[in-house]
Amino acid sequence: MDFIKKLKEFNKQINDLESGIYLGEKRYREIYELNQKLEAEIEKRTKDLETANRQMLTLQHILDMMTAAKPLSGVLNAIVSSLQGELGYLYSCIMRTYTENGQLYLEVIAHSDDELSTKIESVMPLSFYDTKVAITPSSGFEEYLSANKVYHTNNVSECLYRFFPGADTRKLEQLFTSIGCRSCILIPLSSDKVHYGSLILLSKREDTTDAELRFLALFARQIELAVTISNLFHAVKSQAVSDPLTGLYNRRYFEDCIKKETIRANRQNQKFSVIGLDLDYLKQINDKYGHNYGDIAIKTIADVLKKNARSIDVAARIGGEEFNIILPGIDSEGAMTAAERIRKAIENQNMPVIGKITASLGVATYFEQTDDVDELLELTDHAMYQSKHDGRNRVTLAKPTKDISWQEVAFNTFMDILAKHRVPLDTDISDNISRKLETLGINNDGLYTISDTLIKLYNPNYTPGITKSKVLLANSLAKRFDMPKDKIDNLKVAILLYDIGNILLPKQILQKKDPLTEAEKDRIKSHPVIAAREILEPITGMNTILPIIENHHENWDGSGYPHELAGEEIPIESQMILLIDAYFALQEPRSYRKAMDKEQAVDVIRAGSGTKWNPKLVEEFISIIETEEF
Ligand code: GH3
Ligand code: MG
Repeated sequence: MDFIKKLKEFNKQINDLESGIYLGEKRYREIYELNQKLEAEIEKRTKDLETANRQMLTLQHILDMMTAAKPLSGVLNAIVSSLQGELGYLYSCIMRTYTENGQLYLEVIAHSDDELSTKIESVMPLSFYDTKVAITPSSGFEEYLSANKVYHTNNVSECLYRFFPGADTRKLEQLFTSIGCRSCILIPLSSDKVHYGSLILLSKREDTTDAELRFLALFARQIELAVTISNLFHAVKSQAVSDPLTGLYNRRYFEDCIKKETIRANRQNQKFSVIGLDLDYLKQINDKYGHNYGDIAIKTIADVLKKNARSIDVAARIGGEEFNIILPGIDSEGAMTAAERIRKAIENQNMPVIGKITASLGVATYFEQTDDVDELLELTDHAMYQSKHDGRNRVTLAKPTKDISWQEVAFNTFMDILAKHRVPLDTDISDNISRKLETLGINNDGLYTISDTLIKLYNPNYTPGITKSKVLLANSLAKRFDMPKDKIDNLKVAILLYDIGNILLPKQILQKKDPLTEAEKDRIKSHPVIAAREILEPITGMNTILPIIENHHENWDGSGYPHELAGEEIPIESQMILLIDAYFALQEPRSYRKAMDKEQAVDVIRAGSGTKWNPKLVEEFISIIETEEF
């Protein structure tokens, strides 16, 4: 019995054990399954977290760029490259639409910059990235924009072809297949509720998720924000009237004011004056103490001007270290007193580190020296150069135009060319010439030397001293034709400057030994127009001299350039320059011929009488050459 009982008990124990094992296994299985679920969940969450992190970093990066006030193109390029790089799109670009003459155009304003982007361009219409593409009504782009909804399609090449009909669809398809592009997403962009463009993305994924679209929408808002900020920035900048460094008015405001002041002065027949001021030796301050101290010097001048100006005066910073002040209702005498007060006040400033600074000033008065406002500013400038030339830290009153000698006109023109960098010269060359000009001063020999120095820059065969001979020869020739003094003076100035356009031509062409190509000949033939229109036209006092220079290569028979004028149509001064220039040029060696002697040069001129040169001029010219020593 005991045995049976024990057996039963044992059996029960086995049963208990069995069910225990079963229960344990069940629990184990449950735990195992739960664990697996958790692992999957963790993996998914980690991925989500990683994506969110990447998105956050990208947005942060864009935000940083925007707050660092980078130019708009930089911000937009950063946006497209982050979409493409970190967020795994194959390609992205931002397009802008705009209307011109009633036609709607599309242009790419930012795009990913890699091999794929080059490939896409090669199958798109020409100049896809550089110019606008007209939007045709059939493309549906306008409907897409006005619907203001994200557009997603798997038919990528068809979609792009609709917007860019010039694209090669077959090649587009091949390209998209080869890179595994499965869909295209377009997200409309707007600013101030106006739809102006689209973000375009090419994706490897067939479908989009809501989360992805939400995130892309966030991107689109960043783009819109960048564009809006940039538009605002431009609007504010163009309306600005003050200079950020000094707080004085800026050039734009100054120009508006002087126009208004001129109208007022004309209406009320009342004078006004302009003081021009340039800080002395700023370059030395910059070099010795650094640009920041240069800026401090500029600000100090500005403070002096603010303190010394009446409330109706307009003090403006019109360039780096150039200032102008308009003094309404003030004549020369009053303006000279004001300028002198400013000069003294500047001289009395004592700054840490830099110590003392000085400035050179020029004064001109409307209705006294001139009644032309452009000339007024030019005269102010010239008076200021005169102060520099006389030793700086002084004030000079402008001379009336009619009292300005031809030497002063030439001197001011050279000064203007150098100071305003109207021809590109290396700084050391330009400084060297400026110094020479200042030391030699306003006299004939000084001017001839400067002209010689400039000519030598583009013509290594030039013999210094020839400018003087040219001017003297021109003077003799002009007198034979009873030319009035003012015209002779213009001719003299023109002689110093007529070939200055050559400085803007490439040396390889000017000094080429082989025959010139037609294109190269055309470049050389542009030098009279370059001199007149590009270099000298903005300089006041040059008006009567410009046509002389522009036409100094016109031939008597109409075969010259630039306008193919003939006979008396050509200004007589230009005819004289053509002849005088040839006489001396023939006596210089050229790569294609040797230098001629005087007799040979005269023979050439005689032979060209009536074709290249005015016969009457040739006759007088030869008679001068035979009697005088040239
Ligand atoms: P000068 O007495 O003949 O006027 O001599 P300068 O040294 O002042 O020479 P110049 O007028 O020819 O050159 C002006 C220099 O001023 C050139 C430029 O580098 C510097 N400059 C222009 N604008 C600024 C500016 O905003 N800040 C600073 N620090 N320097 C400037
Ligand atoms: Mg200066």
